[in-house]
Amino acid sequence: MLPSIFQQAVPVLRKLEEADFEAYFVGGSVRDYFLGRTINDVDIATSAYPDEVKRIFQKTFDIGIDHGTVLVMEEGREYEITTFRTESSYTDYRRPDKVEFIRSLEGDLKRRDFTMNSMAMDGGGHVVDPFNGKEDIHNKLIRTVGSPASRFSEDALRMMRAVRFVSQLGFTVEHSTLDALCEHSGLLEHIAVERKTAEFEKILGGKWKEEGLKLLVHTNLYRELPGLSNFHAELLKLTELHQLDRLDQHQTWLLLLYYMGKEDLQGFLKRWRLPTKTIHSRSKELAILKERKTTGWTKHLLYRAGLAAALNVEAVYGCLDPSGSVSSEELKKQFNQLVITSRQQLEVTGHDLMTWSAKQGGPWIKERLAEIEMNIVNETVPNDKEVIRRWLETCSRL
Ligand code: ATP
Ligand code: MG
Repeated sequence: MLPSIFQQAVPVLRKLEEADFEAYFVGGSVRDYFLGRTINDVDIATSAYPDEVKRIFQKTFDIGIDHGTVLVMEEGREYEITTFRTESSYTDYRRPDKVEFIRSLEGDLKRRDFTMNSMAMDGGGHVVDPFNGKEDIHNKLIRTVGSPASRFSEDALRMMRAVRFVSQLGFTVEHSTLDALCEHSGLLEHIAVERKTAEFEKILGGKWKEEGLKLLVHTNLYRELPGLSNFHAELLKLTELHQLDRLDQHQTWLLLLYYMGKEDLQGFLKRWRLPTKTIHSRSKELAILKERKTTGWTKHLLYRAGLAAALNVEAVYGCLDPSGSVSSEELKKQFNQLVITSRQQLEVTGHDLMTWSAKQGGPWIKERLAEIEMNIVNETVPNDKEVIRRWLETCSRL
């Protein structure tokens, strides 16, 4: 019996079939089904043209109509339905110049990147597999559909996709596909940074990231990634760590940044077009990691980090020094024992300081609050308003 995620979507296929069109599950969901992996969403391909799809379903949204994709709402769920298509004339090693809608499933499967991603399955579980994707899945092989050299020249992002599937699935790249990867890696320069970033992050988050990273270096693809061309040794250094597979994408990034020791960290991360929030949290965590390495977890460091960042940092530190690291449970315990865990818990406010001192507001308030905060966290002063006031007076801080 098909997994429920497919079962729920069968009525969508049936609606298209009842209108005399073909409809199949395609792409990643079919691959993951044969791999026994969790399926997050199903993609549907059909012989119906977009306007025909829109006539069949009541609630639709044009999310990528130029590429033939219509978003359909059925029974409260969203489905991406894409018309069978071919892609032609790739003049710039990236997106196709022209997308042509077709009525044949085979034509659609042929344009897909790897054999494992080029299978289709109908509502009854019958599989259409013209490029022997099932066999390649069985042998854990990544192989392009057709000539690897032309497929990578058509769209150079496929090379990054190959490496990320190595990292996510633990597959190996088939021989001639690998040769073409090494030969054409330079073409990746034509690909938009955002797309490279998305694939790179999937590589860093994969269960077999060690293999993915080795391949990124072996094929020279890393040279086309923002600011990484001189960091061949650092990338390989990551792969030598024993506990690397325990790290998630974000933590692996952090470890890489630690090894790279970039001075202009923000500038480097900006080149990857990462969100400002991510850039800030990575910069903060990297600084915390360096401090944790020299001083260990002091109360004040733990407080400044916050629990989430501290756990990330310690996971990374565990890779650098497995015997010297603290368990998450222990770290959580230490964090929960802090007198305060955020500035809101301070018994004193900036307003109190102004009232007590009869002085105007200004930068001194922020400085004084930080000083009070540090003493409270370090338990040299209790978090008690009256005691704090007396303490400030005694050391002439008002
Ligand atoms: P994931 O599980 O990460 O979503 P996926 O294989 O579903 O992996 P998508 O990017 O969602 O990847 O693409 C869906 C399908 O579209 C792929 O399985 C593949 O058949 C096809 N595809 C995606 N990108 C390309 C590409 N650059 N060239 C050719 N076919 C592609
Ligand atoms: Mg997908």
